Amino acid sequence: MTTLHNLGYPRIGDDRQLKRAIESYWKEQLSETQLLEVGKQIRQQNWQIQKDAGIELLPVGDFAWYDHILQLALTFNVIPERHRHSEPTTPLQQLFEMARGASRCCTNHAALEMTKWFDTNYHYLVPELSAEQTFTLQYSPLLEQIDEAKGLNVPIKAVLIGPLTFLYLGRLANGDKLNLLPALLAGYRQLFDAIAAKGVEWVQIDEPILTLELSEPWQEALASAYQHLAKSPVKLLLTSYFGDVTLSLEQIATWPIDGIHLDLVRGFEQLNQALQVWPKNKVLSCGVVDGRNVWRADMKKWISQLQPAQKKWGDQLWLAPSCSLLHCPVNIEREEHLDSELRSWLSFAKQKLSELVAIGHYVDGRADHCDSHWLAQSQQVVEARVQSPRVINSVIRKRVVSLTESAFTRQHSYAIRQKVQKEALNLPLLPTTTIGSFPQTRAIRQQRTALRQGQLSQADYDTFIASQIDEVITCQEQLGLDVLVHGEPERNDMVEYFAPLLNGVAQTQYGWVQSYGTRCVKPPIIFGDVSRPAPMTVRWSQYAQSRTTKPVKGMLTGPQTILGWSFVRSDLPRADVADQIALALRDEVSDLEQAGIHLIQIDEPALREGLPLRRSQWPEYLHRAVRSFRLTASVAQDTTQIHTHMCYSEFNDIIASIADMDADVITIETSRSAMKLLDAFELFDYPNEIGPGVYDIHSPVVPQPQWIEKLLTLASKKIPVERLWVNPDCGLKTRDWPETLASLQVMVDVARKLRKEF
Ligand code: GLN
Ligand code: ZN
Repeated sequence: MTTLHNLGYPRIGDDRQLKRAIESYWKEQLSETQLLEVGKQIRQQNWQIQKDAGIELLPVGDFAWYDHILQLALTFNVIPERHRHSEPTTPLQQLFEMARGASRCCTNHAALEMTKWFDTNYHYLVPELSAEQTFTLQYSPLLEQIDEAKGLNVPIKAVLIGPLTFLYLGRLANGDKLNLLPALLAGYRQLFDAIAAKGVEWVQIDEPILTLELSEPWQEALASAYQHLAKSPVKLLLTSYFGDVTLSLEQIATWPIDGIHLDLVRGFEQLNQALQVWPKNKVLSCGVVDGRNVWRADMKKWISQLQPAQKKWGDQLWLAPSCSLLHCPVNIEREEHLDSELRSWLSFAKQKLSELVAIGHYVDGRADHCDSHWLAQSQQVVEARVQSPRVINSVIRKRVVSLTESAFTRQHSYAIRQKVQKEALNLPLLPTTTIGSFPQTRAIRQQRTALRQGQLSQADYDTFIASQIDEVITCQEQLGLDVLVHGEPERNDMVEYFAPLLNGVAQTQYGWVQSYGTRCVKPPIIFGDVSRPAPMTVRWSQYAQSRTTKPVKGMLTGPQTILGWSFVRSDLPRADVADQIALALRDEVSDLEQAGIHLIQIDEPALREGLPLRRSQWPEYLHRAVRSFRLTASVAQDTTQIHTHMCYSEFNDIIASIADMDADVITIETSRSAMKLLDAFELFDYPNEIGPGVYDIHSPVVPQPQWIEKLLTLASKKIPVERLWVNPDCGLKTRDWPETLASLQVMVDVARKLRKEF
């Protein structure tokens, strides 16, 4: 019989209990014992859900406080020097300190760096390794959780990130990380022994780096590590996901491991390879329902595609979702406000398990009436979706295919536009501006909640937003900024704001997904062709412009960023979806322009993070991403100045594409890099204007005038001063008003001073 298992379940709880509990603990409203109890309840609840769904091998160890990589670092005592201290702390205190930083004994113990988990929107904390690093097993919530799970009377499997992925993601200031591998493997062996001593047979060892293009030394290290680890008294299921395995399966088949998990959603061809080269006596785990997206599975297709595997592997065939369900929302049943048709198309973590189980039962020929119910629904949805008038908008489709090259190109080259814009805008040298948002105060959030809950009328809410804009405009005038913004008080989030305003995009109410730590996001769902029924941002930009004689910059979120931070339909290539979004935004650009807005910023912070995991796929991605940006922007007249903005990014390897976007001005986050990020622009002779961020908006500290002066002087050595702008690193929405005003005043004063000197 096929074994049905799961790689991981959302750890936030079905109602974001984990977030709330941890945040209460931070505020000292909850004791550590109480917090630990909440974790326990979530785990019990998750296991029960999985067991009830028919999962036969439950994951234990997928739960983590804050982040699973951080937890693993702590498991092996990988604690940077600055976070080691003499006072007794509990592991949990230690963990939160590493995650969030702390100030102790008058010094600042900065948090570990956070970065994106492969190509997902989950962020992990980067382990900091030292050349003398040891890996001793010191804290293992995994072992405790194994005990907790025993009462369930369902076989369990320990879940763990593998040593090569852990090392690969970690940071070592000097030296080769692979030198640390023997010591790390010793730590894993210790852990495996402890797992085996608890009577657990299987370990799911996640090595998502298997899907990357690895250099020879890393490939060799993988092979030798698993030779070594296989001597442990546990069985190893080597688990890959987010793509297909780049090493040959034939080669991996010679490693002494007991099974492999392949992500067939991202790499279906792997099944055929496995059929040829993967041994019959080793477990083959097929990842079949999509752990990264929200659509119901085409169960019939999977059932027939899995038949040959069932024949070959029989009892050694396992089925699971493609990857951990950490990346999808918890339960579609709660989304009662979504219309029933759309809801019927969707499947969140809980539903994915039922789909998986039904697929497995059919593959084995043990389906019951519950399975047939799922299969019938799946078939109905698959047919209904393709036929639904809601997913295809023939007007948009026609518009996309009839686009000609001119739609992707501004009227004139940058050199000409620059002259026209100089005349039209009449800005001083080193013009000052901000990135868009101003502090999102509690008052703003309260008004938004009141509107949503029906306690505030739309008219009263609008009056409130107008008053906020008035304030932001007045402040900017008093500060002496040159290009103003409306402050984005009407936007809860730069992507979520646009979802209800676009046809073909839906917004869930409870579809939370962990982004990092206690931060969860509710990505919009792009289900059909995207179009814009009416202007989306014109009203407030125009209002803001009416309150001042200074130019106000319009503010849009770019196509790659809307795409990257949403769940995207699976029946159309992503780049085509981006073009549809681009067309909607293009109309917005045009409307803003006609409403008297002469500068328009199109934010693309997600452009760089959207890069595929494999470098070989970068050129195609970048080509299409740049084109969709150009499609958005190129409708603008020469006199309209197009800005774009990107947050902390390495530009070295994508600078040609950045230049190709041909934005008149790009603002970037650079202050923490001491303008190092400008090197790429200098080296490339980037021709357009640049606003390198001159202060860090992640910190409440008001910058010293000397710092800003120094940064701008550095910048002027790399970029001609006529092409420099002066602005903060990013939007100000997470800041408070006092520091915002003080910081901007310093920034404006320094710009004024330097204007005279340069
Ligand atoms: N315009 C947005 C803001 O200022 C940009 C945010 C971002 O780059 N993440 O908030
Ligand atoms: Zn930003």
